[in-house]
Amino acid sequence: MNRSAVTDHDPWLLTPGPLTTSLTVKQAMLHDYGSRDARFIEINRRVRERLVGIVSGQGSHECVPLQGSGTFVVEAMLINFVPRDGKLLILVNGAYGQRMQKICEYHALAFETLVFAENEPVDPDALAERLAADESISHVAVVHCETTTGILNPLKAVADVTESHGRALLVDSMSAFGALPVDSREIRFDALVASSNKCLEGVPGMGFCLAERGALEATRGNSDSLCLDLFEQWRGLEGNGQWRFTPPTHCILAFDRALDEFEAEGGVAGRGGRYRDNCRVLVDGMRALGFETLLPDELQAPIIVTFLMPSDPDFEFQAFYDGLSERGYVIYPGKLTVAETFRMGCIGRLDASHMRGALDAVKAVLGR
Ligand SMILES: *Cc1c(COP(=O)(O)O)cnc(C)c1O
Repeated sequence: MNRSAVTDHDPWLLTPGPLTTSLTVKQAMLHDYGSRDARFIEINRRVRERLVGIVSGQGSHECVPLQGSGTFVVEAMLINFVPRDGKLLILVNGAYGQRMQKICEYHALAFETLVFAENEPVDPDALAERLAADESISHVAVVHCETTTGILNPLKAVADVTESHGRALLVDSMSAFGALPVDSREIRFDALVASSNKCLEGVPGMGFCLAERGALEATRGNSDSLCLDLFEQWRGLEGNGQWRFTPPTHCILAFDRALDEFEAEGGVAGRGGRYRDNCRVLVDGMRALGFETLLPDELQAPIIVTFLMPSDPDFEFQAFYDGLSERGYVIYPGKLTVAETFRMGCIGRLDASHMRGALDAVKAVLGR
């Protein structure tokens, strides 16, 4: 077991994922179900139905799960929903927008980018201008919370502009889904993707796509990948209740349990509320210790916080990281071009007491 030197538990993961999960979620995996087991098929049905419920998409939207990490389902979304004669406009203000660009390059999908600074949200007015100027853009892709910085993008405004210009919206809500509300009746999207292991607090291993049914039906034949063909994955599940290829059975059992715990916590409002508390405790505490956040509070999503590297020449990130790790807290290096930074996450099965513990550890390491 990966015990830290001075604690008796697995490290608390203050990272963008994988994340800390509850004991009960881990225990839910202590079963071996065959993929044709009626109980397993029922669990799949229940998980998919509950995910659709989170966006209030009952009757209008479908859930297609997919094996792999989050990026697998981002790639699947782009190659299924953007037809070969379409063109995607990617709103970029961080690494996950850039990754969508790379996906388009791999698949030779026609795309353009609208690039913003990493410490600024994407701008719906600039989007409106670009859409008005270019009739050939069929789809717009946006990252809900850009995990690179933790910045919250204005999803509703982006969706409204996209809809009013008659284009389709594709959303990477990976790090926000389950903690920040998305109502499919108010925010029009063709497809939105997220994964089992971020704010829904399951274990890593699968992503899912929530899609408007008509838009999903229209994707038939678009995919240039067998494994990532969401239309065929959906048809398989609708046909016999089974995944096309070996399902991540243990991951789905854990996810079903994680969704029980999500609902017990009060769904998006409860989960988001705990993360907002975590974020407030973390940011207030770090500021009290002299750290500065990259983002002003009004741009900060309660998901992951980017701190500027202190200018003190005695501060050495590796020693800081190692000291926290020894005390049972894992943080994350920054990934920015605008500034030297590090990140601390607020998501996963952590509460304000873990944040206070992390602050105590920061204080102790700085003292040393
Ligand atoms: C975590 C994340 C992903 C997926 O990353 P994986 O490492 O493939 O799980 C995609 N987009 C965003 C915004 C994310 O935070």
